[in-house]
Amino acid sequence: MPMSDHAPTHCPYCALQCAMTLHGHPGGAVSVEPRDFPTSRGRLCRKGWTSAELLTSSERLIRPLIRRSRDADLKPTSWDSALNLVAENIQRIQRACGPDAVAVFGGGGLTNEKAYLLGKFARVALRTSNIDYNGRFCMSSAAAAGIRAFGIDRGLPFPLADIADAKAILLVGSNVAETMPPFVQYLVEQRERGRALVVVDPRSTPTSQLASLHLQPTPGTDLALANALLHIAIKAGYIDKDYIAGRTTGFDDVQRAVAAYWPERVERLTGVSAADQHEAVRLIAEADRAMILTARGAEQHSKGTDTVSAFINLALALGLPGTRGSGYGCLTGQGNGQGGREHGQKADQLPGYRRIDDPHAREHVARIWGVPPESLPYAGRSAWEMLDSIGSSDGPRALLVFGSNIVVSAPDAHRIDARLRSLEFLAVADVVPSETTRLADVVLPAAQWAEEDGTVTNLEGRVLRRIRLHRPPAAVRTDLEIIAGLAARLGHDARFSPEPEEVFDELRRCSSGGAADYSGVTYQRIEAEQGIFWPCPTENHPGTPRIFLNSFATPDGRAHFVPVEHRPAVEETDEKYPIYLTTGRVMAHYQSGAQTRRIPSLSRDSPEAHIEVHSDLARHLGLAEGNLVRVISRRGEAIARARITHTIRPDTAFMPFHWSGVARVNSVTNAALDPDSRMPEFKVCAVRLEPVR
Ligand code: SF4
Repeated sequence: MPMSDHAPTHCPYCALQCAMTLHGHPGGAVSVEPRDFPTSRGRLCRKGWTSAELLTSSERLIRPLIRRSRDADLKPTSWDSALNLVAENIQRIQRACGPDAVAVFGGGGLTNEKAYLLGKFARVALRTSNIDYNGRFCMSSAAAAGIRAFGIDRGLPFPLADIADAKAILLVGSNVAETMPPFVQYLVEQRERGRALVVVDPRSTPTSQLASLHLQPTPGTDLALANALLHIAIKAGYIDKDYIAGRTTGFDDVQRAVAAYWPERVERLTGVSAADQHEAVRLIAEADRAMILTARGAEQHSKGTDTVSAFINLALALGLPGTRGSGYGCLTGQGNGQGGREHGQKADQLPGYRRIDDPHAREHVARIWGVPPESLPYAGRSAWEMLDSIGSSDGPRALLVFGSNIVVSAPDAHRIDARLRSLEFLAVADVVPSETTRLADVVLPAAQWAEEDGTVTNLEGRVLRRIRLHRPPAAVRTDLEIIAGLAARLGHDARFSPEPEEVFDELRRCSSGGAADYSGVTYQRIEAEQGIFWPCPTENHPGTPRIFLNSFATPDGRAHFVPVEHRPAVEETDEKYPIYLTTGRVMAHYQSGAQTRRIPSLSRDSPEAHIEVHSDLARHLGLAEGNLVRVISRRGEAIARARITHTIRPDTAFMPFHWSGVARVNSVTNAALDPDSRMPEFKVCAVRLEPVR
């Protein structure tokens, strides 16, 4: 049913959250028009331009489906019978095996309201500790490193527009030119002003081609490189002694730790020449405003937290964080990757970025939820550990999934696929069929972004409004309605509103006094003020675009250096598996590809997976452009077409992760976890390549 013929909103995909106006047309078609906004400045990438096509796709889920027995097909049913079946299975399994036998898996694309209500649903209606989300695979290492250095995790602690003013940028492990193309305007502006851009990436990408200097380390060695850059900066006298003395603690320990990372040693570890290391430091340290930005390339490792800490150490030694026009930041990936990690769908967290083991936080949140604090569970398992524990004696027997395609996006995917198949009960809420809905006992068709109101928080920590254009199809419900419907069937109807603004107002109260304080943010203010940066503790507070200008969010107000040591990837190459494999994205697709693979123009542009290999390696293997290649690791194999280049490291291959079936690269990847963030090592594993004859 039409609501309005246009709606000013934001793109449904990545964390840049480019602004757009949706126009509804007679007959149901929806068109997209870019909208001026301080971040995207009137631009969209192809994913944004085509995002409305999914609203009218013949492939979307439009009615609930249930499977009567394991071997039966999914069949349409009513909402009552679908939700009743989910509730009955939850109650049956929890009666037999306890609350933790039911687990919840959320997503970094869910709005703040959904992430919040899902966390509350798990803790209050299910009383399970087993809740986590796919952001654990995406952002958690930068979050952990940010918290230990600065006391808080906000991806960019300054507005995006500040980036164009930096006189030098060190960009680590990010291919923004393909993953968020409108971001590139800031790098181009910066370059046009004759300023330096240093890119660290084992591959040559459209982003590295913008760089003044491109460093191509062996996958898994960024930490050693960062320590070497700091070693050089100290030796060359580039460090900011006044800043270190006035705003930080722990420098002496880090200085001792990096003493062993002299450039020639690190050249042997990383493959980056000592001369290039010196030049990178000179470019960054001699600029009077500089930024260090990291992304998944630095984070998705079994030492991702320490790697990000190493780059933060460098930024602190140069006096960058909390200095206007300079700083350290992390480029968040998923659409609501920032807000989705603040309000309670993470295993160890309560809303407002509170810790679930903090007695004051438990009391505060429990009071608003109207339950005793002692009834709230404590931290459960992280995403991969939770999935991997399915089938163990104390692991989940039922799983509810909201907005995540686990079968494609989890590492060591054959193993997780088998775990999901061993569940007693699986329910999945999503907008389109996916490899995960295909395993479900119940599929709940969820509304798309243009069909519901809500908020998301972009990569700068700016809270934005999603505004509904029209209602979803008749038999489709919003995730909030689905959660509220389930809560009602479990005896908690009074506590779970399906109305976005009511949920947001409750989220604001829960976040009050927390690190990510949204209490002064209202729907009306967001629209009037082009978004509001958290923390925003009162309705009179202007929000906080630059959070570290005066002090850091640590108890002593200082940023903390953390000494970190390089260690090899969990899986190094050997005779049997001689090539490093690294994974990432292509411009046309988003995450598991469940949505973008259904957009005809995107699918035409990138119809299938490819594997990028160096020409020397291709010659050695007898491969020609377009040949099929089998990629084999200790865990499984995948097949993709060879794309031969002269610019990737000869010892490294790259494969995107948007495809399923034989093209699923996560059949190959390693689930070795970072000890702090519990993030898997997506970015490096050892493989063997074979031509498919
Ligand atoms: Fe959407 Fe990201 Fe593309 Fe912007 S860059 S249009 S937010 S996918």
